[in-house]
Amino acid sequence: MDIAEFETWSKRLAQWSAEYRRTLRDRPVRPDCQPGQVLAQLPEAPPVDGTDMATIFADFERIVPEAMTHWQHPRFMAYFPANAALPSVLAEQVVSTIAAQCMLWQTSPAATEMETRMVDWMRQALGLPHGWRGVIQDSASSATLSAVMTMRERALDWRGIRSGLAGGPAPRIYASVQTHSSVDKAGWVAGIGQDNLVKIPTRPDYGMDPDALRAAIAADRAAGYQPAGIVICTGGTSIGACDPVAEIVAVAREEGLYTHLDAAWAGSAMICEEFREHWAGVEGVDSLVFNPHKWLGAQFDCSIQFLKDPADQVRTLTLRPDYLETPGLDEVVNYSEWTVPLGRRFRALKLWFLIRAYGLEGLRTRIRNHIAWSREAETAIAALPRFRIVTTGRFSLFTFRYEPPGEDADAATAALLERINTDGRTYLTQTRHEGDYVIRFQVGQFDCTREDVMTAVGVVGELAEQT
Ligand SMILES: *Cc1c(COP(=O)(O)O)cnc(C)c1O
Repeated sequence: MDIAEFETWSKRLAQWSAEYRRTLRDRPVRPDCQPGQVLAQLPEAPPVDGTDMATIFADFERIVPEAMTHWQHPRFMAYFPANAALPSVLAEQVVSTIAAQCMLWQTSPAATEMETRMVDWMRQALGLPHGWRGVIQDSASSATLSAVMTMRERALDWRGIRSGLAGGPAPRIYASVQTHSSVDKAGWVAGIGQDNLVKIPTRPDYGMDPDALRAAIAADRAAGYQPAGIVICTGGTSIGACDPVAEIVAVAREEGLYTHLDAAWAGSAMICEEFREHWAGVEGVDSLVFNPHKWLGAQFDCSIQFLKDPADQVRTLTLRPDYLETPGLDEVVNYSEWTVPLGRRFRALKLWFLIRAYGLEGLRTRIRNHIAWSREAETAIAALPRFRIVTTGRFSLFTFRYEPPGEDADAATAALLERINTDGRTYLTQTRHEGDYVIRFQVGQFDCTREDVMTAVGVVGELAEQT
């Protein structure tokens, strides 16, 4: 492809993109698509000769959009949002064109320095302590893995990265039963193992029980284990559970343990001061992850890990082979030394575009609206016959269940969910809470309106009547 053709196609794709976003509300949120449908349209063998762009793009239009789940659809209420606000999409367009590797300061000075500034803007926006630093990772899973590696190495006095884990006492990590599965996976990958990830029971509010935590650590010490760290959760994925951060940090202090707070979703809400009570004590944690690529509006991927002091993590993850030396540049930050992957994308640009386009106040208004509309939706569903709210609103997430008399409520709720998602006007997903099958209702799509939320509520009521 020559530059002239690139220019023509860039313009056509820009038009296509605008039209896609403009007409999203008219599409079903979840596609009416069967497993294997796309595979059947793709030749089994790769082409030997080149194809013109017009044919490639026509095939894209024919095969792909109708088999996509539309995450930017304003009535997407499933999982958590993966918002891509339009200014952040524009930033990604230029990032993809410049296509730099941002592993060292020297390989992309602007990316490194903008990352430093954007992380600090977000630190201020979230009300986190002065002096904290941070790094933009691809995902919360990677940030949590980095933190778990750091916990492990601190506990082993950095013997693990030299000699492996065999022989010594097993490092133990503590997290509540409400914590995201990425913590389990970090334990697997870091060589700690599922059996050494101790799941602490919760109190009636579903936050980790500090007394149970203290008891588990004492029992582990008595049994010859090596307690290493605690993963705290603010806004768990299933129902939005929040651990009592200050109380857990107090236990960590008594025990000399490293703490990592997972606020991947709910962290975005903390740009509004009134929600910060849900992580009171946050200034005491060592590491914190939040995903601007979820609720805030920065196109995936963009996950910020804040660190009270990066020294322990950098000591754990720095490797300097000869070919990565940058002589004479010791005073600069090389962010690849803070993370597991070496190669890094220019992720700070979309934050710069996003925050400047809306301002913090514009972003706060969205979060506040989402939470208020979620409360309205909860009240409306509570008023429908045969529905029961199972967990009440935490931030903008609540769960409910459909319980027609004489029917198995798990099956009735699952059948209703399938009807809702086949209908296509909205998209909701399920979880299990204390054994019960429940539907999660999450309000957070960047462009959703109050009317979109109430339409989704209407769909729930209407389809329940049709059985
Ligand atoms: C989404 C989520 C994660 C995982 O985030 P990724 O960026 O997809 O790795 C972890 N923890 C919580 C609480 C989440 O909501």
